[in-house]
Amino acid sequence: MTKSVVVIGAGLGGLSTALRLSYKGYKVTIVEKQSTPGGRLNILKQDGFTFDIGPSFFSMGYEFKELFESIGEPIPFELNELDPLYTVNIAGSDRVFKIYKDLAKLAEEFRGLEEDFEAKAKKYLLGAKEIFHDTEYRIIKKNFNSILHFLASMATVPVKHLPKMFRTFWEELERHFDSEEVKIIFSLVAFFLGATPFNTPSVYNLLNYTELQHDGYWNVKGGMYKIVEGILGLLEKKGVEIKLNTEIVRVEEVNGAMKSAVSATGERFDADLFVVNADAAWFRGKFLNRSKYTPEKLDKLEWTLAPFTIYLGVKGKIDGIQHHNYFLGNNFRAYADTIFRSSVAPEKPYYYVNVASKSNPECAPEGCENLFILCPVPDLRVKPDWSDADKLVNEILEDLGQRVGYDIKNNILTKVVYTPNEWEKMFNLYRGSGLGLAHGLNQIGAFRPSNKDEKLKNLYYVGASTTPGTGLPIVVIGSKLITERIENEHSAV
Ligand SMILES: Cc1cc2nc3c(=O)[nH]c(=O)nc-3n(C[C@H](O)[C@H](O)[C@H](O)COP(=O)(O)OP(=O)(O)OC[C@H]3O[C@@H](n4cnc5c(N)ncnc54)[C@H](O)[C@@H]3O)c2cc1C
Repeated sequence: MTKSVVVIGAGLGGLSTALRLSYKGYKVTIVEKQSTPGGRLNILKQDGFTFDIGPSFFSMGYEFKELFESIGEPIPFELNELDPLYTVNIAGSDRVFKIYKDLAKLAEEFRGLEEDFEAKAKKYLLGAKEIFHDTEYRIIKKNFNSILHFLASMATVPVKHLPKMFRTFWEELERHFDSEEVKIIFSLVAFFLGATPFNTPSVYNLLNYTELQHDGYWNVKGGMYKIVEGILGLLEKKGVEIKLNTEIVRVEEVNGAMKSAVSATGERFDADLFVVNADAAWFRGKFLNRSKYTPEKLDKLEWTLAPFTIYLGVKGKIDGIQHHNYFLGNNFRAYADTIFRSSVAPEKPYYYVNVASKSNPECAPEGCENLFILCPVPDLRVKPDWSDADKLVNEILEDLGQRVGYDIKNNILTKVVYTPNEWEKMFNLYRGSGLGLAHGLNQIGAFRPSNKDEKLKNLYYVGASTTPGTGLPIVVIGSKLITERIENEHSAV
């Protein structure tokens, strides 16, 4: 008989796992607490404006190609490579740095700041390239059955990379570059991992290789939600049912297996197999009462920063801004040192702005722009009270208006703000952490909550807080790994 699978959560992890399993012949049902599928990769429509609420670009676009190739379908959306990758504005500097993959063009951006930039960058990126390719299949795209298995795999990584475990991301940059601006810009990516460049191991410099040389950055024509719509079309073709507005609040076990997932209204979902796309650490504590994942122990883990997001519909066209932009202050080290620990909202906030209407005009009415602003802030363990959200919004809009030379505040047609409290409630994100568990060396591979349950033999996990980790392409890799495990352990019929 065909095996049935219930996937709990319709984030990218749940949707892509459902896609792979349904094409392999499993009978899949998805249950999702929200009224729209997509999880953090979601959409917001208001007053004629359309916003992607979370992810706005991604690296390793070939992982999406692999997902659709693996099921024999053409990719159902159009990928668009970013060039430049993004721009960076640093307070006090009159330059706007455009970050190109083309190193000769990038060298022009750093002219007068970093001598011999191109040669230095080539050398730096060669080291990053080697570590990326030496770990890709040994560590990232691999299932681990035990800590020993993981350590054995780590031991096969060429020993020349060992010193990088003991240096920080920043120290590695200091070995190659003199200019503060180059070091700051090349270290921004460390914040996505849940730490600062000053305490992230230097191995993660490999991310600059993925961004600047390997595959660059991509977004999707018509907006990021086209990814979700494309997957939904294929799931429908395969008869996958999606039950929205259905939050799982209890699980039932029988004989070492999960038997049912029970919703808040008492609806039961029975299946042969279960895949949890909710946060893999939080779910184990909340519903399986695992002693390793009590709130006290979850609080001691390292979590990525929480998002503070603003969605703005603005009247008029803003010339002084591009599609992807970082706005930084001039106190990088001090900011990095306090951002994870401060119980007050940042005073001179660092933030990211995406203006989707620059390349997708249908996202905003004619003559208008839609702005998505993301300011990473401490999670709810550190700053639980966001009643002062308006202050941070004002601060950001004031600063942004000045830097781009446009009166944004007086041209707002629509505005929505999500503090970490909203992010936590919407998707059950632990303490509002935006990208889930961080990626320090003690929280990766077999040290991360496994994608296979420790006790229940038919329960699996996919998504940001299980292996390999967070970010859209990595979650898609996670769906491949979990599908392999399920196929090996429980064939479709
Ligand atoms: C503001 C922001 C910006 C980001 N920007 C980028 C970016 O530019 N590029 C990039 O690559 N990544 C980005 N990320 C990270 C990326 O969004 C995540 O890594 C990825 O979307 C995680 O997918 P997921 O499937 O693991 O989880 P989710 O998207 O969180 O999906 C999990 C789903 O499970 C549902 N759920 C939870 N509990 C239950 C329950 N009990 N019952 C039923 N359903 C439940 C949730 O509602 C949710 O829909 C960003 C994240 C945020 C928050």
